[in-house]
Amino acid sequence: MPRVICIANQKGGVGKTTTALNLACAIAMSGDRTLLVDLDPQCNATTGLGLIPDARHALVDSRPLRESFRETYLPNLSLLPGARSFEDVDALANSSDSRSLMLATHLSGSLGSFDSVLIDCPPSVGALTRTALASASEVLMPIQCEYFAMEGLTQMIEVIKQVMGRSNSRLEFGGILLTMYDATLELTAEVDREVRDFFGGIVFSTVIPRDAAVSEAPSHGRSVIDYAPRSRGARAYVELCQEVLERV
Ligand code: ADP
Ligand code: MG
Repeated sequence: MPRVICIANQKGGVGKTTTALNLACAIAMSGDRTLLVDLDPQCNATTGLGLIPDARHALVDSRPLRESFRETYLPNLSLLPGARSFEDVDALANSSDSRSLMLATHLSGSLGSFDSVLIDCPPSVGALTRTALASASEVLMPIQCEYFAMEGLTQMIEVIKQVMGRSNSRLEFGGILLTMYDATLELTAEVDREVRDFFGGIVFSTVIPRDAAVSEAPSHGRSVIDYAPRSRGARAYVELCQEVLERV
């Protein structure tokens, strides 16, 4: 069974996709056979690797999932692409818990050839995120260092606990990651203190700084680690990867 890390937060724009993509690349570069699963209809994890989304998401298609795995520019990294098709989104968005569970079983059954799998979730606690949580061994929650950072997290945590209790006893809290960190702002320091006081040791000691290189990399179809290896953002994601790999 591979390690399956679900990157989730119901808020948009907190760094989920950026973290899923860069962490997947860093883990692949460390030698693990890695799969990045794009479950967001916005497909940013797919386009950020320079690839084109599928017409229909493999997860709701009848083909074997393996036929949809794509190679990426990194030898150890495969991608299960996202799809923008409304039909797929609607089918998943309206699906019941049992459908989520069925899809999760379908996904889990196809992961045997990987050491690590990262799932990029949409900004919701709907069926797609529940499917990801039901397939995962851990959940990593990025939060942006801004006012209201913890808003909505309570609902996310409730959903995680539900999935832990009902359908996936293997699921653990993998950690909370502070993103878009600006050490010059008093607000960042405040959020940092507040989050660490509240959540304690599950907050990663690595923080991801706000760095233009991080936001530029996807338009070049690569991780920031390849696009700007010396940037602060690249170094932070490599450090995060080490912390994640140590936390087994
Ligand atoms: P989410 O997937 O949670 O919606 P994204 O990963 O797409 O969030 O990030 C939202 C926006 O912020 C994107 O434009 C992304 O390029 C930018 N961004 C993410 N992390 C950083 C960072 N560390 N520094 C600068 N910009 C960032
Ligand atoms: Mg995203």
